Amino acid sequence: MRQAFAKFFTRSLPSFFLSITLFLGGIGVLALRIPGWSLFLGLPAVQIGIIFIIFTFDEVAREKGGVNSLYMISCSICKKPILVHTWEEEKICQECLRKMAKKMKLSKD
Ligand SMILES: [Zn+2]
Repeated sequence: MRQAFAKFFTRSLPSFFLSITLFLGGIGVLALRIPGWSLFLGLPAVQIGIIFIIFTFDEVAREKGGVNSLYMISCSICKKPILVHTWEEEKICQECLRKMAKKMKLSKD
């Protein structure tokens, strides 16, 4: 969990900060109402800022579901190591799931 957090700060945060700065800077230039320059500089800056923000969030979202976010934990039942996503704190391995399903079936009959 901490690894993903550190990655967010080193990779996603700078680009997020840049896009926010661009976005707010653009609004600032628009607010200054410098004849000609406000529209010429402000509007593109705001638009690029918005696009950057979307891209940053997209990257963060993709990272969450990517291979990079996988890590090892022990199965809650048999303690066998299994790969899980970073947002999963606890998991049962396939083998134990199958055993549990079998047991449930048996108890039903
Ligand atoms: Zn297991």
